[in-house]
Amino acid sequence: MEAASISHNNFEQCIKCTICTVYCPVLKVNPAFPGPKHGGPDHERLRLKNPEFYDEALKYCLNCKRCEVACPSNVKIGDIIQSARIKHQKKPGKIRDFLLAHTDFMGTMATSFAPLINPVLGLGISKAALDGVLSIDRHRAFPKYTGQKFETWMKKQAETQSRYPEQVSYFHGCYVNYNNPQLGKDLVKIFNALGIGVQMLKNEKCCGVPLISNGYIGKAQKNGKSNLKAIRESVMDKNIPIVASSSSCTFTLRDEYPHLLDIDNTEVREHIEYATRYIYRLFSNPDRIKKLKFTDRKLNVVYHVPCHMKKMGWEIYTIELLKLIPNIKLTTFDSNCCGIAGTYGFKKENYKASQEIGKPLFDMIERSGADYVVSDCETCKWQIDMSTSQTCHHPLSFLAQILTN
Ligand code: SF4
Ligand code: SF4
Repeated sequence: MEAASISHNNFEQCIKCTICTVYCPVLKVNPAFPGPKHGGPDHERLRLKNPEFYDEALKYCLNCKRCEVACPSNVKIGDIIQSARIKHQKKPGKIRDFLLAHTDFMGTMATSFAPLINPVLGLGISKAALDGVLSIDRHRAFPKYTGQKFETWMKKQAETQSRYPEQVSYFHGCYVNYNNPQLGKDLVKIFNALGIGVQMLKNEKCCGVPLISNGYIGKAQKNGKSNLKAIRESVMDKNIPIVASSSSCTFTLRDEYPHLLDIDNTEVREHIEYATRYIYRLFSNPDRIKKLKFTDRKLNVVYHVPCHMKKMGWEIYTIELLKLIPNIKLTTFDSNCCGIAGTYGFKKENYKASQEIGKPLFDMIERSGADYVVSDCETCKWQIDMSTSQTCHHPLSFLAQILTN
């Protein structure tokens, strides 16, 4: 598959200021990684002349886009690196990468045997086997699989949901479907409390994040085209907007589809929203917010901004939404990447760097004495749950927990 045209990736705009190198979390801990400036715009000039200049060490890029957020010249550094990986890196061959990439396949298999799979995955002997045979690091804790998929529960709600006069279509993502249906139920509860019904998208597929990062670009494109068809039907034919509860799914549907997968989503992009953004706008209507009653308990809440929320610039909606809740003392961490980056931190060769990258965040959480740790991304949650004494909550699950009506 050909990568997205390099002309989209504006490497000529680099003014060599090196600011991106200060913000790259990998460069701080892994000397083998060339970094955003060298691996991005600098090497792109060389790669265009001769693909042999491609450096396999670009596989260490987390695709966090922190470099892009920092760049004063708006160079799409992360996109340049990912496009180079798509175009030049060795084809995926490892069984491990196949299993980590195909979340739909793994989720469908695992949910059927969840009561058996969950305890087995937690055993020391299973972790040692995964480490030794597949190079999935033994320290990593797998999220538990659910016995009933979110989609199964949602199908039973279809009639009730259709009675609401206003509707949204929900892109639930693999994590909600196979691991944490409660998050999807929390979203439905909040939207219903605001007088809005929730529909599923037709035939939703994995958004493509793990497929892209593990090199399965053809499959990611196939999923992307199928998702776009369903999104178009909802937005264009039914005039129903899309909301998602995963920051990385939202970012991928909006930005990685056109930038990395050559999927043109121009007609619908502005109608694909992250849930807290959508709800924040609803909360600005006093008639809506007065329908909701929250706990009187005073709560100390800390918020970690996931990388893809930072890239979208949408952390402001989660922050301002949480600030609207009475009795909450909110602290937003000045944190960088948590280090896990989806499936990246599961790989044995990345585990040490992943934990070193996340260490400043783990320390902030431990020092905070927070009642609740909140973050929008499921894999940030896995990293925080595994590496600190706290449990990380999605903002919607947090809201659903403190809602008293
Ligand atoms: S921050 Fe942007 S302009 Fe500065 S070196 Fe990096 S890519 Fe170039
Ligand atoms: S996307 Fe993240 S890991 Fe990759 S070069 Fe940019 S800052 Fe570094």
